[in-house]
Amino acid sequence: MGVLCFVELDGDDVVEASLRAVTFARSLAECFDGPLVAMCVGEVAGPSVATLGAFGVSRLYQLTGEGLGVYSPALWSRALNERVGELGAECVVAAGTDRGHEVLAHVGATRARLVVANCVAGRAVTATTLGLTRQRWGGTLLEDVELELPLALLSVATDGVVANAAANALECDVVDLKVNLAAQPSDVRVAEWRERAGGIALADARVVVGGGRGVGGEEKFGPLEALAALLGGTVGVSRAVTSAGWRPHAQQVGQTGTRITPDLYLACGISGATQHLAGCRSAKHVVAINVDADAPMMLRADYAVVADMHTFLPDLIEAVRSRTSGK
Ligand SMILES: Cc1cc2nc3c(=O)[nH]c(=O)nc-3n(C[C@H](O)[C@H](O)[C@H](O)COP(=O)(O)OP(=O)(O)OC[C@H]3O[C@@H](n4cnc5c(N)ncnc54)[C@H](O)[C@@H]3O)c2cc1C
Repeated sequence: MGVLCFVELDGDDVVEASLRAVTFARSLAECFDGPLVAMCVGEVAGPSVATLGAFGVSRLYQLTGEGLGVYSPALWSRALNERVGELGAECVVAAGTDRGHEVLAHVGATRARLVVANCVAGRAVTATTLGLTRQRWGGTLLEDVELELPLALLSVATDGVVANAAANALECDVVDLKVNLAAQPSDVRVAEWRERAGGIALADARVVVGGGRGVGGEEKFGPLEALAALLGGTVGVSRAVTSAGWRPHAQQVGQTGTRITPDLYLACGISGATQHLAGCRSAKHVVAINVDADAPMMLRADYAVVADMHTFLPDLIEAVRSRTSGK
């Protein structure tokens, strides 16, 4: 079975969620003894091509040309759909990101196929039947489904698979596809882009400093921003915070927000409701700061600090500054 993986880029790098998707796609290609190829939009830097080869991608189609600089799900999916037809791909995989889901949904609508979202495992049931396990209800439930091939369209849960290089690295062959998407008609065009505060995407951040209702107000996020900047991370928040309008929904962690997979999650003034924990269960290390020692977030944490975050954070920031400046 030929597997085509849609890969997202962030500058010169392949985003972490896409490396997870490639890892998953490779496992399917191995199950069905078929090739794994990938497609991305934009020119890929040499080290990223080497990374994709190390992850088992034998060929990368890179779309270059006019009109590609701006995200356009309809046009990007049209290009992906053309590769499906050209390659006779039986399975298309993308990361379970906003873009991955949207691009796959367009391909699904064009080809009248359903998209199976947030998969965490796949297997060959028969030569033409693909078995998948996927997350439901924010990852609190796993569902097994079976799909007849071709064509399977599926996304990979951003927190459900660990990115792993292949046992044998491949030489990834890059095929440049020149397109002029600007000249093609599209129902949806991006009118404006605004830089996201914090810069680093929540889903990819290695450090997330989380703030909940305990922060106490829109104007009190300064110490969290400062700490995130010191640690090379970004700020994430609970729904209580976005509902209060203190921060945008793009920063929400949880079942109805972003699922994060950082090395460190510092949860400040967050109680740890089930829906919030659904978004941070894949954090490698959790430090919780809360006045309530029995808050669920404190029980989930590797290190629980019983303190008022407004007095504790300035001390922590000072300690990190001293450490990083070598004082
Ligand atoms: C369908 C559905 C989907 C949802 N999806 C999400 C989601 O995606 N993400 C999400 O986060 N929530 C989600 N929720 C909401 C969730 O149930 C909780 O209401 C929310 O997570 C609570 O946010 P919080 O922890 O910031 O607030 P609270 O529960 O009010 O907790 C505030 C915490 O701050 C502590 N605190 C107060 N002052 C201080 C201080 N000075 N220093 C230290 N600690 C302090 C308190 O002890 C408390 O533990 C969803 C709910 C529903 C019904």
